[in-house]
Amino acid sequence: MGRREQSPGKCGYCGREMTKGGLARHLTACPQRAEAIGAAGKKPGKEQALYHLQVQDAWQGDFWLHMEMNGSATLADLDYYLRAIWLECCGHMSQFSVGGWSGAEIPKKTKAAQVFELGVELTHIYDFGTSSETLIRVIATRTGKPLASHPITLMARNNPPEAQCVECGQPASWLCLECLSELDEPGTLCDEHSESHPHEEYGEPVPLVNSPRVGMCGYTGPADPPY
Ligand SMILES: [Zn+2]
Ligand SMILES: [Zn+2]
Ligand SMILES: [Zn+2]
Ligand SMILES: [Zn+2]
Repeated sequence: MGRREQSPGKCGYCGREMTKGGLARHLTACPQRAEAIGAAGKKPGKEQALYHLQVQDAWQGDFWLHMEMNGSATLADLDYYLRAIWLECCGHMSQFSVGGWSGAEIPKKTKAAQVFELGVELTHIYDFGTSSETLIRVIATRTGKPLASHPITLMARNNPPEAQCVECGQPASWLCLECLSELDEPGTLCDEHSESHPHEEYGEPVPLVNSPRVGMCGYTGPADPPY
């Protein structure tokens, strides 16, 4: 879709911009994050196991998230989060498994602490028709107090991929699914050319949001974190 291969993203604590792999290392060492961890440690509440998850779309690796998940949170919490930030279009079914598509399903009531340990990788599938497949890998663990009151803390995500309008080269914010699906063209359009675009067999152009599900099923975003 005329997108760059490696979308960088910003550290949610200090704002430094780097690649997904760079952030995997950086987040462990980030002084501002260490400060936040120190501050959280002084608050009341119980310590628990916390998991640093690197989440990425299985096919478009430039869509990724770094998050920290509480050990007491369930896979249902993670499913809810992934739907909100990336996936939800029509309330399709989803599942977690180990060992890919055909691997053993893990029930959503399972707590993070029961399934996660360093190096574990889960596959999340949303929609068994037009499937979105997400890989979730545990890249670090620690014991401490969570940094926020929610079960999951977003630490970084890829910057919105840049795309150019096929008509004029200006930044694109719309996608024509007919161009993409029928004509094998990028179909990326600016505001102006989206208005005058002639195709309507697949409906109006859809918004180009920061999600690997753009262009699939009835997905229209908004691709915002739920909290
Ligand atoms: Zn940082
Ligand atoms: Zn759908
Ligand atoms: Zn244009
Ligand atoms: Zn078109």
